Amino acid sequence: MSRFPQVTAFSGDADTIRVVGHRGARGILPENSLIGFDFALSIGVDLLEFDVLLTRDDIPVITHNHEFHDSAVRGPDGAFLNGEHSRVASLTISEIERLDIGRLNTETEYGRRFPDQAQMDGVRVPRLSELLQLVSQPRYASACLMLELKSDPDLAHDAAARERIVSVVCDEVHRAGMADRTLLHSFDWALLAECRRQAPDIPLSFLTQLQENEHDAGEDSSIFVTPDFGNPDTSVPDEVSKAGGSLWCPHFTELDENSLAHARELGLAVAVWTVNDPDDIEAMIDLKVDAIVTDYPGRVQQRLSERGFCWRR
Ligand code: MG
Repeated sequence: MSRFPQVTAFSGDADTIRVVGHRGARGILPENSLIGFDFALSIGVDLLEFDVLLTRDDIPVITHNHEFHDSAVRGPDGAFLNGEHSRVASLTISEIERLDIGRLNTETEYGRRFPDQAQMDGVRVPRLSELLQLVSQPRYASACLMLELKSDPDLAHDAAARERIVSVVCDEVHRAGMADRTLLHSFDWALLAECRRQAPDIPLSFLTQLQENEHDAGEDSSIFVTPDFGNPDTSVPDEVSKAGGSLWCPHFTELDENSLAHARELGLAVAVWTVNDPDDIEAMIDLKVDAIVTDYPGRVQQRLSERGFCWRR
């Protein structure tokens, strides 16, 4: 079966399991930062996962939540955003570029989740175009992108907003010549359907999470856009395949041998998110998933090499 080259880049084989740097390398460097992406690429982790939102002036920026939180964002005065949660969609790019995402606020629950993360100053929210430029460099020619489009909860049913983010983001990816190195990735299946309509040349990656799973402290939940797979007769990989997916990205606790085998029969690559604990990493290596999305890419590399696997060919 012919595959998009970037889907092959996310696919394992008998002795290869891929490593995907989640928001770069969130465990040790500021999440969704150029320095985090550059670090992951420089240690041979070619696959990057990151989150894209639009500013008020329609510039795609790389950040996870719809509001900037006090847990990791400081204002121009150097202080953590004092409870003022500014919406990304209400700020212009020049306002956003005055914020600093280099440190975690350990007074917050989110800030305490990554005790090994470096504390830095002068780290900006990157534009999507800056990351595309970084991976355009010849030394990163094997890099591929898992570009997550985030749905604005206030605009979940707004088709025009959906069309706009897809069109702006896909234009940038095409203009940068990165269409054959990018996967469009989302929990929001309506957004992915729009991607398929506007950019059929870019393959789709479907994120799934069962409704009963709790969301993580300090992060926007995607439960409101994720289809409800509550019916035990529903096969998630069948649904992903029917919706035109090339890759299925379940939460790692929701994958078993049977669903993995079935996804493979359907021709899907399977990447699991977000696997940080050493025992969970081992369990995903035992299952032989295609790719492991992790905040700690070095930790996964180490487990893979101990067990005789590589992560790139
Ligand atoms: Mg993401």
